[in-house]
Amino acid sequence: MDATTNPVFCTIIPPHVFDRLIEAEDPALARIARRTFVADAAQRTERRLTTVLGAEPVAPPAGAAADQPQRTVYDAQHTTTLPGHKVRGEGEAPVQDATVNRAYAGLGATFELYLKAYQRHSIDGNGMPLDATVHFDHSYNNAFWNGTQMVFGDGDGQIFLDFTLPVDVIGHELTHGVTQHTANLTYFGQPGALNESMSDVFGSLVKQYSLDQDAHQADWLIGAGLLAPGVHGDALRSMKAPGTAYDDPVLGKDPQPATMDHYVTTGRDNGGVHINSGIPNHAFYLLADELGGKAWERAGQIWYDVLTGGHLGTQAMFKDFAKLTVAAARARYGDGAEYQAVQKAWSQVGIPPA
Ligand SMILES: [Zn+2]
Repeated sequence: MDATTNPVFCTIIPPHVFDRLIEAEDPALARIARRTFVADAAQRTERRLTTVLGAEPVAPPAGAAADQPQRTVYDAQHTTTLPGHKVRGEGEAPVQDATVNRAYAGLGATFELYLKAYQRHSIDGNGMPLDATVHFDHSYNNAFWNGTQMVFGDGDGQIFLDFTLPVDVIGHELTHGVTQHTANLTYFGQPGALNESMSDVFGSLVKQYSLDQDAHQADWLIGAGLLAPGVHGDALRSMKAPGTAYDDPVLGKDPQPATMDHYVTTGRDNGGVHINSGIPNHAFYLLADELGGKAWERAGQIWYDVLTGGHLGTQAMFKDFAKLTVAAARARYGDGAEYQAVQKAWSQVGIPPA
């Protein structure tokens, strides 16, 4: 496994946002951005070592029911030591700290979508326990999956709020674990943008499932509620209208393209993994919108079939993925509405799958 590109350390806030914040005129903001960036780099190095050595396989506890999550929430108490002190285990009553309870609920919502919609037992498909640490570091402006657990910062309160607030952010991060255990898409360039897009798609579906929304009711935003009051923006990303999630003097403008016409070639952000993910994100939105109803049912099923079906290579490009979704739609639903809608959605973003 290639330690430099394996998606074992995936943060919700991409580096281009910190580039802007580090240059912020407010020295306090710039300092917080620099701190978060340094803490991220330290975690990245730690994970790389773990990956090289090989992670221990995680077995569910003896007697654990396959249809129940095994959640544990820890409190880092504003340090960077993981996992921290255990504050809530599976089946235990809510605690005083709302952040702990939100993390616990978000892990449960993600487990439930994968189980109920796709009969998948946890992240690895084998009942893997779900661990999360809250209150990581001071004013830490990020959340991440480190290959074995979730970690949430509190945000600085000026740009970002508590990272446990949006349930789709939790679903996004845990989906990096699902991808790691299935297609294992290389975290660079187009395969990396597909990896990011998988996390946005299923993160949004976790939110939609937990709110019982259909495709037309959903906001299709990633990270709604995460930006502090006063920041000009609705969320981190928009699947419905990539490039419109925020436009702020400090944060800059959402750089996501919606179609291949505006594909961004860059060496930053692992070759634009959080930028060009807007294109497959938008294809999924267009498909779900065309089909209507619950997006996790047919649209989500087609995407899930490709992610877990064994034909998606670690180096897959957008076009490879598009073709596989067309084949998956036909295999599961025949050559009717779903098959037509998948082709139409990809054509609309400039990736005709024929
Ligand atoms: Zn991600």
